[in-house]
Amino acid sequence: MDYQQILNDIEIEIQPLFDKGKVADYIPALGEVDAHQFGMSITLFDGSVYSVGAAEKFFSIQSISKVFTFTLALKYLGAELYKRVGREPSGNPFNSLVQLEYENGIPRNPFINAGAIVITDTLISHYKSDSKAFDAILDFIQSIADDTTITMDVVVAISEMEHAYRNLALTNLMKSFDNIDNNAITLVQTYFNHCALEMNTKMLSRSVLFLANHGVDPITNKAYVTKSQAKRINAVMLTCGHYDASGDFAFKVGLPGKSGVGGGIIAVIPQKMGICVWSPALNEQGNSLIGTKALELFTTKTGLSIF
Ligand code: GLU
Repeated sequence: MDYQQILNDIEIEIQPLFDKGKVADYIPALGEVDAHQFGMSITLFDGSVYSVGAAEKFFSIQSISKVFTFTLALKYLGAELYKRVGREPSGNPFNSLVQLEYENGIPRNPFINAGAIVITDTLISHYKSDSKAFDAILDFIQSIADDTTITMDVVVAISEMEHAYRNLALTNLMKSFDNIDNNAITLVQTYFNHCALEMNTKMLSRSVLFLANHGVDPITNKAYVTKSQAKRINAVMLTCGHYDASGDFAFKVGLPGKSGVGGGIIAVIPQKMGICVWSPALNEQGNSLIGTKALELFTTKTGLSIF
C-alpha cells in the first residue's frame, strides 16, 4: 500500500475544511494557536514512518495524555482502579459536573476530565508525591515515544491553572464523595502539567505502537502492559475516547482513538500501526474537526479499521 500517496491525498482533501471549527480558547494559551495547521503521521511495526504536513510541529497533547496515565494506573493498580472510575461512555461533555453528582462522585470513565483527575490522584498516591508522579508519567511517555526530549509547555500549564474553575469544581465534588485522596490544588496542577506536555504527530504515532501490539513495543520489545490490559485500554479508547462524540468517531473512523483539545488525535490499528493527526480547530464536542475527517479518509482509503 502506498501510504505516502494516501497521506498526500488526504492533505489535499481536507483543505476546504480549514475555515470550519474553532480553536479551544477556554485555555487562553491554546486560543492563540493558528488554526490553519495540519499534520499527520503513521508509524509501522518495523519503525518506518510516513508523514504529511506539520508532522514535526509541537502541540499540546492535552487529553491524549489521559491514555498514558490510564495505562500507568492500570499497570500499578489493576482492576482495583474500577472501584474509583468506571469504563462506560459518558454521553456528556468532557468537563460535565452533572453526572458526577448523581453518580456519587465516581466518574464514568478515565477519559473525561473527572476520570482523568481520579487517575492522576491514584498516581500521586502510588508515587507518594505530585512531583514524583509527574516525573513517572513523563518518563513513561518518553519511553513509549522512544524520545527523551519531550517536555511540558509551562505557559499552557500556567494558563490552565489560572482558569481551573471547572476542573477544581469537579475535583472538590469528588473529594466530597471521598473519591480524591490528595490535595485538590496540587492534584489539579499535576493533571494540567501532564496535559501540557508537548509532542508532534511523529512522536505520538510512535508512542502508541505498544497498544497496537498487545502491550509490547514492537520495535524495542519492551513490555508495558499485559495483553489483557492492552485490550482494555483500546476498548475504552474506542468507546470513550471522544467524549460525547465517541459513537460518531467509531462510526466514521472505526478505530480506537483519543482526542485532546490541543487538536491532536491518536489512533491504533491493531497489529499494524500507530497513527496521530493534528489540526487545532475543534468541532462542537471538542475533537479536532479536520483530524476526525483525516482519520475517516485514512480508514476509508486503506480499508484498514477494526471492523
Ligand atoms: N486539560 C484539559 C482540560 O482539563 C483537557 C481537556 C481535553 O483535552 O479534552 O480542560
